[in-house]
Amino acid sequence: MTSRTGIRAGITGGIGTGKTTVCSIFHEVFGIPVYYADEWARRLVTEDKLLATEIIKLLGEQAYLPDGAYNRPYVASVVFDYPEKLASLNALVHPAVEKHSMNWHREHIAAGALYTLKEAALLVESGAWKHLDFLIVVTAPETLRIERVMQRDHISKAQVRARMRNQLPEVEKIEKAQAIIQNDGIRDLMAQVTDIHKQIIALSQKK
Ligand code: ATP
Repeated sequence: MTSRTGIRAGITGGIGTGKTTVCSIFHEVFGIPVYYADEWARRLVTEDKLLATEIIKLLGEQAYLPDGAYNRPYVASVVFDYPEKLASLNALVHPAVEKHSMNWHREHIAAGALYTLKEAALLVESGAWKHLDFLIVVTAPETLRIERVMQRDHISKAQVRARMRNQLPEVEKIEKAQAIIQNDGIRDLMAQVTDIHKQIIALSQKK
C-alpha cells in the first residue's frame, strides 16, 4: 500500500524554465511538500557533520571558516583550479542530499502527504533521478528563459547563457521523464499541473 512508501516525484528543467513557479503550484494548490535540493545542499555542507568531515578531508581545513561557515569562495577557487575536485566534491554532496531527501520524504509520507516532490536543476546530471518514481521536466523556449532570468536576476544575456552551458541538453532530460510541462506562457500551466497531479495520484493508488 502506497501510504507506506509513497511516490517520490522529481521536477527538473533548465535554468529559467519555471521549476520554482511550477513547484509553488503543486505546493500551494495541492498541498504537496517540495524538497528544494539545491537549497538543502547549501545547508547540509555545514549541518551534516559527517559530510563536513569528508569535505575537509578532500579540500582541507580552509573549506570552513573559523566560525564553522562554509568557505564558498575558497571552495569555488579550488574547484576552478582543479576541475577533477568538483566531481569528487559532488560525489560527497549528492549522496548526502539523497539520503537527507529520502528521510525527508519518508517523514512527509508518514505525516500524510499524498506524495512528495524533489526539485533540483541538476536532477538528471547528478543521477538522483534514478531514485525517483516519477520525473517531471519543465520546458520553455530558450528566448523566454533568457528574458525571464535576465529580469529575475538582473544579469546579462551572456551570463544567462554561461549558466546554461553547465546543464545537459534538454532532450536528455525529456527522454527520462514521465511528464513534461510546457511553460511557454501560452499553454495553461495550472491545467498541466492538475493533470500531472492526477497522474501521480493514480500511480500511487496502483503502487
Ligand atoms: P532556476 O533554474 O534559475 O532556479 P526556475 O526554473 O526555478 O529557474 P523560475 O524561477 O520559476 O524558474 O522562473 C524564472 C522567472 O520566470 C521567475 O521570475 C518567474 O516568476 C518567471 N516565470 C516563470 N514562469 C512564468 C510564467 N508562466 N509566466 C510569467 N513569468 C514566469
